[in-house]
Amino acid sequence: MNTENNNKPNKGSFPKHLAILVLVLLAASLISNMAKGALKAKQEQEVSYDTFYKMVETGEVESVYIGDNRIDIYVKSGSKDYSPLITYYTVMAEDPLRTSNLLKYGVTTFQEKPDNSASVWEILLTVVLPAVMMVLLLVFMFKRMGGGSGGIMGVGKSTAKMYMQKSTGVTFKDVAGCDEAKESLVELVDFLHNPKKYREIGAKLPKGALLVGPPGTGKTLLAKAIAGEADVPFFSLSGSDFVEMFVGVGASRVRDLFKQAGNMAPCIIFIDEIDAIGKSRDSRFPGGGNDEREQTLNQLLSEMDGFDPGKGIMVLGATNRPEILDRALLRPGRFDRRIVIDKPDLKGRVAILKVHSKDVKLDETVDFEEIGLATSGAVGADLANMMNEAAINAVKCGRTAVSQKDLFDAVEVVLVGKEKKDRILSQEERKIVSYHEVGHALIAAVQKNSEPVQKITIVPRTMGALGYVMQVPEEEKYLNTKAELEAMIVVALGGRAAEELIFDSVTTGAANDIEKATEIARNMVTRFGMSDEFGLMALARTEDMYLTGRTVMDCSDETAGKIDRLVADMLIRYYEDAKKILNDNMEALHKIAAFLIEKETISGREFMEIYRSVNMEEKDEEA
Ligand code: ADP
Ligand code: MG
Ligand code: ZN
Repeated sequence: MNTENNNKPNKGSFPKHLAILVLVLLAASLISNMAKGALKAKQEQEVSYDTFYKMVETGEVESVYIGDNRIDIYVKSGSKDYSPLITYYTVMAEDPLRTSNLLKYGVTTFQEKPDNSASVWEILLTVVLPAVMMVLLLVFMFKRMGGGSGGIMGVGKSTAKMYMQKSTGVTFKDVAGCDEAKESLVELVDFLHNPKKYREIGAKLPKGALLVGPPGTGKTLLAKAIAGEADVPFFSLSGSDFVEMFVGVGASRVRDLFKQAGNMAPCIIFIDEIDAIGKSRDSRFPGGGNDEREQTLNQLLSEMDGFDPGKGIMVLGATNRPEILDRALLRPGRFDRRIVIDKPDLKGRVAILKVHSKDVKLDETVDFEEIGLATSGAVGADLANMMNEAAINAVKCGRTAVSQKDLFDAVEVVLVGKEKKDRILSQEERKIVSYHEVGHALIAAVQKNSEPVQKITIVPRTMGALGYVMQVPEEEKYLNTKAELEAMIVVALGGRAAEELIFDSVTTGAANDIEKATEIARNMVTRFGMSDEFGLMALARTEDMYLTGRTVMDCSDETAGKIDRLVADMLIRYYEDAKKILNDNMEALHKIAAFLIEKETISGREFMEIYRSVNMEEKDEEA
């Protein structure tokens, strides 16, 4: 497989020289034209017929040219009164004696205009040269306009050629935690290499597969790994590569791509972010109904129908918005298979951390299991980022190996931003933030359905938090019970509850908590069927499950109003629960908050120590 790149030889120096040449030629032509014009203007001067005769008689005339309606007079070089540089002329008069007279005085007559017809050089200068220059100029301009992607001249050419990779340097070993996806892809590669095996049985070979999943889960990475593993040519493009300003260009790129691929088969075509061209043509979707994109999509569809599956072309697509893709793209015979790469589970996260720590020196405190537990919801890209942050942090602190603390700090940096050292909270604010955070933590600790506290801090973060509680689950959960969801809401409202109980006033600090609590409560009603009023009725649907996970209401306005009322009631109830729990644990709240105000950060262990000691005392008193 050779990566030909024949359309632009010595691309760098060519236009520059050309530009200079064009400029020089342009200047030369201008000057020559101006000079000629000036000469011409001097050259001619009209004289009367009488004067002409006198000139002949005095022997000043060397030759004449007798045209249709005028006579050009060329004087002798030795003439006194007339300049030989000037062509004199006179109007034609009826004069039968003219020719004989002229002969008498030894004047030559030409039947053809001497030297007035343009010379070869003149033609070159005035006609050919400007034309050539125009052409050169145009070529030059086109070249310039075409800068990056093949140029205007190569507008219809697929850019895939440039993306054809011999080796990406990525193998399956570099992709962790999506074993099923890898398995599916290995199977696809087997189709490519041994099509016979499948056809003999009568199985139809799939033409394409779609990698779907949230951003950062390793879709692009996995495709690159396939390129490394499959050992066939690999065309890699992004959906946006097809989209140009000219209608029809995308379509011709698709055509060209499949033609090239056809010549290289067996091969893999990978179209990343395929939603850029594969958006539904349904105009209900925002941005639907774009001519260029529609044509491109149609071309893609027909190309995918067109090629024989046994030919050995596999089309891979990747997207994080499968729901906006055109139905036609997803039907059998096109992207038959859907390979889901979801957010990694605990095992996956640990594996990803291991992959990315390959070249990082770790000390003996490091426990990926624990980090994995603390990073539920993080994707591969986050984890790679965390690993790097941790290594940088270790270097900053002058250490030679990464410790568990570095990793935890990095987790925080990725989740809530860096510590914001220059934001100084006033004493009063520190107090409020402390009680707020301890409110969350205490409720989490009291409720057995919530996750244990890992750390509480009131050091402000760059991403806006003035303080926060880090909770780490004991084990990964895939399902949440209703009781757990309720506990989560109560924990979220615990901050505000503490503020109200202690300071008798409330602050703006609970905005995020309120949002979170409301979302959970709303989902319980509209999606999880956890309310008595609406039972198991689905009242909302997920808009794009991999990107934002946003839900939209799917019910009548009347019902929506009822839902709002119901959610509000739930939140009021859970808020009362939160206040009750804090009232029952007032002593612990004061003690832990005081500790936090002083220390700024408190570990889960310190927290539990204080909490337990308070509870012991109470039990002792009761006894
Ligand atoms: P996307 O799914 O958005 O295409 P990428 O493949 O671009 O995500 O992933 C971005 C980066 O995150 C990768 O370059 C890699 O460093 C890291 N990453 C993501 N998923 C994984 C994974 N499963 N294993 C190892 N690294 C991963
Ligand atoms: Mg990607
Ligand atoms: Zn809070």
